[in-house]
Amino acid sequence: MSNVKAESILIVNGALLSHDGARMAEQIGWLAVEGERIAAVGVGNAPDERRARASRVIDARHMAVLPGLANGHTHLSQTFMRGLADGRPLLRWLKEVIWPLQGAMTPEDMYLAALLGLVENLRCGATTVTQHHKLPGREHVAATVRAAAEVGIRMTLARGWVDMGPTGEPLDRIVADLEWLHDLLQSQIANRKSQIRLASGPLVPWRCSDDAMREITARARAWGAATHIHVAEAQDEIELMRQRCGKGHIEWLADLGCLGADMQLVHCVHVSDAELDLIAGAGATVVHCPTSNMYLASGAAPVRKMLDQRIPIVLGTDGSGSNNSQDLLECAKIAALLAKHATGDAQAALPEDIIRMMIGPATPGLRPGAPADITIINLAHARCQPVHSVASALVYNASGADVHTVIVGGEILLDAGRMTRLDEAALLEACRRAAHDLMQRAGLAGSAGVNR
Ligand SMILES: [Zn+2]
Repeated sequence: MSNVKAESILIVNGALLSHDGARMAEQIGWLAVEGERIAAVGVGNAPDERRARASRVIDARHMAVLPGLANGHTHLSQTFMRGLADGRPLLRWLKEVIWPLQGAMTPEDMYLAALLGLVENLRCGATTVTQHHKLPGREHVAATVRAAAEVGIRMTLARGWVDMGPTGEPLDRIVADLEWLHDLLQSQIANRKSQIRLASGPLVPWRCSDDAMREITARARAWGAATHIHVAEAQDEIELMRQRCGKGHIEWLADLGCLGADMQLVHCVHVSDAELDLIAGAGATVVHCPTSNMYLASGAAPVRKMLDQRIPIVLGTDGSGSNNSQDLLECAKIAALLAKHATGDAQAALPEDIIRMMIGPATPGLRPGAPADITIINLAHARCQPVHSVASALVYNASGADVHTVIVGGEILLDAGRMTRLDEAALLEACRRAAHDLMQRAGLAGSAGVNR
């Protein structure tokens, strides 16, 4: 393993794409990285003194240079569960495939699945990933932390929990494990071993009691941690909640006092106008997963209405069990097309809207002083050329395979298509073997030997 941590990186000739409030700018220019941060940005040719100081120059001619992409929602355990439930809706998909496989995963499986999923995320341009972690055992959580530290990507780790139903955990155990994880991540950040932030990750409203939701959200708030929860994904799970308390998912969160600016609401496919008002009023973020919503036939989130209400939206792939990849650029195209298809409005989601979702509303952008999290995407190939609009080419032409270079905190983790920290071929081999064995243990028919 060799770390490519150049002291001073200079990116030249790139189409710099950043956003500043509602305005999206594209211009050919240069960007200098010093240590972990962006030192300077300019239009046109880089000054000679910048070239002289750079220990590494990246020529980004015919490439787009963006703030690092943010995958707002995934489940890395599902990296081993691609293509196993192509014809099932949400609740059957969970009960017949996902839950049995999750129950059979060892910590080593989790480690390998996380490594593979994070490598795929990085290859597709993500510099940060929100992992909604579904396997609650401490060893499984620690395996994910280890994988993220090894890959070098930033992560928000939302420790999943439910306290109702067959796999519900007692409230005191959830709280104790969140405290353990909080302390672990704090010590890693202090020792500069990882870049992982904690979040509380209630999985679904209909398996979380009122008391647990209230108490755990209050604890997360006290730590400054977000709460990341699936809501209003499919019509039948909304019905489950209505039977329990007569409320929609968003209404339930608001009545508990949990809805706030620290709440990340994943999916929001079936939300009423009144619920959108609640989300906007609270300043909560919606995580939009259009590919997963189409795959599970869940529906189309009302993205245009959310944009009109100025609700912050982050794009997410969701897990590979319902996508089936981690390609955020593919999700970008699907998000744009689904918004148009669902509304009959060609302006329902413009490329600039989608890129803001892909970068995330909280990014400081490509500015001096910002963390050097940068994604460079190659547009110099037949599918993209000629490029009249970089934003359009990124949303409608580019794919994860076009990601050229990814820099996180000043370190080049993907260098012209090559992973710098990991032996990727050996990882793929280990994952094929582990996934084959997992299928056997879970009692599910495996593929015809392709993973051996
Ligand atoms: Zn999910």
